[in-house]
Amino acid sequence: MKYVYFFGAGKAEGNGSQKNLLGGKGANLAEMAGHSKLKLPVPPGFTVSTDVCAYYYDNRRRYPSELKAQVNAAIRKTERVMKKKFCDPKNPLLLSVRSGARVSMPGMMETVLNIGLTSKTIPGLIKQTGGNERFVYDAYRRLITMYSDVVMEKAAGVEPKEGKGIRHQIEHLFEKKKKALGVSEDTDVGAEDLKDLCEDMKKLVKKVLDKSFPDDGEKQLWGGLGAVFASWNGMRAIKYREVERIPHEWGTAVNVQTMVFGNMGDTCATGVAFSRDPGRDVKDIFYGEYLVNAQGEDVVAGIRTPAPINKASQSADNKDLVTLEKLMPGPYKELNAIQKRLERHYRDMQDIEFTIEDHQLFMLQCRVGKRNGTAAVRIAVDMVKEKLITVKEAVCRVTGDQLDEWLHDILDPEVEKKTKAVVKGLPAGPGGAQGKIVFTSEEAERVAKLDAHDDVQGEPVILVREETNPEDVKGMWASEAILTQRGGMTSHAALVARGWGKCCIVGCAKLDIDAKRKTLKIGKRVFKSGDSLSLNGSTGNVYAGEFPTIPPDTSGKTLSTFLKMCDKVRTLKVRTNAETPADAALARGFGAEGIGLFRTEHMFYGGDPEALACLRRMILAGDEKAQQKAINQLFRFVKKDIKGTLKAMKGLPVTIRLLDPPLHEFIPHEDKGLRKIARELKTPFAEVKKRADSLHEVNPMMGHRGVRLGITHPAVTEMYVRAILESAGELSKKGIRVFPEIMVPVVAVETEMAHQFELIKGVHKTVCKKLGVRKVNHMVGTMIETPRACLITKKLVRHGAEFFSFGTNDLTQMTFGFSRDDIGGFMGQYLDQGIMAADPFGTLDKGVKKLVKKAVKKSRKVNPKLKVGICGEHGGDPASVKFCHHVGMNYVSCSPYRVPIARLAAAQAVAEE
Ligand code: ADP
Ligand code: MG
Ligand code: MG
Repeated sequence: MKYVYFFGAGKAEGNGSQKNLLGGKGANLAEMAGHSKLKLPVPPGFTVSTDVCAYYYDNRRRYPSELKAQVNAAIRKTERVMKKKFCDPKNPLLLSVRSGARVSMPGMMETVLNIGLTSKTIPGLIKQTGGNERFVYDAYRRLITMYSDVVMEKAAGVEPKEGKGIRHQIEHLFEKKKKALGVSEDTDVGAEDLKDLCEDMKKLVKKVLDKSFPDDGEKQLWGGLGAVFASWNGMRAIKYREVERIPHEWGTAVNVQTMVFGNMGDTCATGVAFSRDPGRDVKDIFYGEYLVNAQGEDVVAGIRTPAPINKASQSADNKDLVTLEKLMPGPYKELNAIQKRLERHYRDMQDIEFTIEDHQLFMLQCRVGKRNGTAAVRIAVDMVKEKLITVKEAVCRVTGDQLDEWLHDILDPEVEKKTKAVVKGLPAGPGGAQGKIVFTSEEAERVAKLDAHDDVQGEPVILVREETNPEDVKGMWASEAILTQRGGMTSHAALVARGWGKCCIVGCAKLDIDAKRKTLKIGKRVFKSGDSLSLNGSTGNVYAGEFPTIPPDTSGKTLSTFLKMCDKVRTLKVRTNAETPADAALARGFGAEGIGLFRTEHMFYGGDPEALACLRRMILAGDEKAQQKAINQLFRFVKKDIKGTLKAMKGLPVTIRLLDPPLHEFIPHEDKGLRKIARELKTPFAEVKKRADSLHEVNPMMGHRGVRLGITHPAVTEMYVRAILESAGELSKKGIRVFPEIMVPVVAVETEMAHQFELIKGVHKTVCKKLGVRKVNHMVGTMIETPRACLITKKLVRHGAEFFSFGTNDLTQMTFGFSRDDIGGFMGQYLDQGIMAADPFGTLDKGVKKLVKKAVKKSRKVNPKLKVGICGEHGGDPASVKFCHHVGMNYVSCSPYRVPIARLAAAQAVAEE
């Protein structure tokens, strides 16, 4: 069994496709080192496969017996390439031990650098580097820090008290040393002082952990390997996998690699970069940060402010620092060429790590770069223009959530203009947010009331931290936005927030945070836990107080170009659910191709109060005459409403649903309201109250509603249909093209529908006569929202249904027998216990899908051209939209803001085929 895969010197035993076996980092190191078109300068080393991790956990944390020999052989190979020897006192080879799971988990797993430094090899390394003692003890200090923390404490399961971790204590020691020396930068500490420091650090390790720091390279190596495997099941890693839904059984690989040194002096550097801007809608630019004389994660740790690699990467905070391009033009040029090659090779934006040792460039990592929604759309559009990817690939490069970021709230610019920012940080995640300050992740989860399905139920909160780390992911998720004192655009907070499309501001150095006392000082101002802040994540501005937020501007070309690409690919139409001309216009702006659901009753919720008064009189009238009078009065309002919307959607179809809710919903609950109606109807109050009470139902959602109302109150159906057809007839007479589709709700029996259709036919005749036309263009159809209706669609078509629209909210409710208004009581536990995998009201359930599929298939046998759509909430859920495409529907209909997401999902359904 092969467990170890060598890479380096233009060769590799693995390749980029083996992420499952080698982990993401290992597979890409192999690809960069060994692929014939790349052969990049990757320090040689080897990957211990994920099979070993599986074996380790299956065999009570023991390794396969072949492992030792395979590792030793790979070390010998590395030594031959490097012409150095691991543990050799004269010419030592140093190694890094790096974890690497299948998918990148920022900061999750641990890395140990400079493995192999011991009292025996230190003199050799000093000689090798021409007497660079400062560098050697800097490397040694880092090894002791990382090793004691990762291997001796965390992996060994030592649980230190808050703030008492060994790393913390060592860093404190270093800070004390710097203070005593009167210097502020790590790089200002000289060789002798570092040497002393290392001795003090080792003593501290012995004291705190009761174990000696190993003075043996072999021990360090195997300790490092074991720590990586152990950290896979560390608390932080498990928590991150839970949030990101990464399976626990995947396991991690370990990469062992020759050290290259960015900390040997001013001819050395280390940095991270993206082949394109990962956060903004800007022309493709090579974007990154670096530090001179630094090692490993100094750049992301936020200890020193990183400098921009080039002009394009400059920001207000680092524009005075010299760029890599200027400082080391040779290595920069090479780096720039490599990033271009990598992008062409992987055909996607790359996130890379590099180190420069004495002007020589080394590539340490590459992967597909995380990006926010703004950049995702921009990059997809640009790469199509550059002919790097196809349109179909482009639509698969953006998720619904990423697209949603384009539709996110921003702080009201008017209010923002008038207010002075209290402080400014780096804009790491765009959009605006406001909320109450919290200082810990626990507090964030608590105040935001993060529930079992990771939804926020409580108040919006802003998480304010010095910096974030992987322990914070749940609290970060619960927060509306994240604000940190330290860190740059590639810091943990920035990376995680960007991945989630959250508003985020980092590197806000002027924050003075006291997490214990729960206070935040900015200059002279003091904020307490619970005070409000407003953040503009696109500029980095932080404001005191609660700002109104408003929806974003989507008029820019990038988004519309991308959505046009989606339209080119998709075949499924996208309509919207809208009830007012304003909503209709908004949705058309988002690209809606019609209205899939116009709920006639919506005009009574906050519309003209007189319309509601008419309806109430209609409902509570004692006799037909009084009722007809109220209906006639109501007609005027209904017609105005419908005509306005038909006009706004000119040329596009509008599905108008007849009155659906149980009538009791419209009756005032208090006597005062009933008294008013009694006066209007000239009927005694007691009588009106009796009539109102009689409308009360035990189970109204399954009571007197939908088509049942239409049958018991034919005059109501008649009035609605007359309003629709007169509006349509009058508009088309004026030359305005309109396509009303009259939809009968909650049908269960074919004769119910036939009854209504007969009635509609009669009204059509009357309207034609009145308008002096031969016919008014329209269609009649039904909403399919009962399981019985799904089973008899053939009959419904034979009885004259010209279209179907699946009302999947009610259909889900009735298929499960779950009241959609009451699932809160049990759905949380259902999901937690795995009784159900997803909330069926959010994404279409398998059983409901089966019913829909059958209904479509059978009805199309009778009428292959039958128009079929969906108008439930699921019409805006990407997975459900894809199902609708595959089942052969003509359109989906969703709320206006979901229209772009439905367009994307419909395109992906085709592109993924
Ligand atoms: P992460 O997954 O957290 O990025 P990495 O394994 O990539 O962890 O390593 C952490 C840091 O150490 C990175 O900056 C990386 O470039 C650096 N590093 C890792 N291995 C080496 C090496 N062999 N030589 C120099 N730097 C290294
Ligand atoms: Mg890391
Ligand atoms: Mg890395």
